[in-house]
Amino acid sequence: MNFSHIEHIGIAVKNLDYSVKQYEKLLGIKCYAIEKVEDQNVRTAFFKVGNTKIELLEPTSKNSPIYKFIEKRGEGLHHIAFHADDVNNALMKISGLGFNLIDKSAKEGAEGLRIGFLHPKSTNGVLIEICGEK
Ligand code: ZN
Repeated sequence: MNFSHIEHIGIAVKNLDYSVKQYEKLLGIKCYAIEKVEDQNVRTAFFKVGNTKIELLEPTSKNSPIYKFIEKRGEGLHHIAFHADDVNNALMKISGLGFNLIDKSAKEGAEGLRIGFLHPKSTNGVLIEICGEK
């Protein structure tokens, strides 16, 4: 696969408002968007660092995968997202390479982007997201 860049790095947090202040202080920039992603039961906040974004994720319900993640492992690094021009095409190719997918096809993510996740079992315990405009 040829990914152009790391689109974002996802960090699971318990309290988004507190965490936004912390990262604004650390990065010296303002969070440029806060958005609810109903599909994932999360509230997200974005920062831009060069070509890569930092995405803070706060669970909005106990059904949220982020809620389960924090229960199990605590707050912290949750996923790395690579940018692909065509997410469905990338997922198909990655599956063809023998990786296990969580999402067989792209779904709606934050910022109106298409996203799909790989199963961390085939990527050394790291949750990988493919993310792009279509
Ligand atoms: Zn993400």
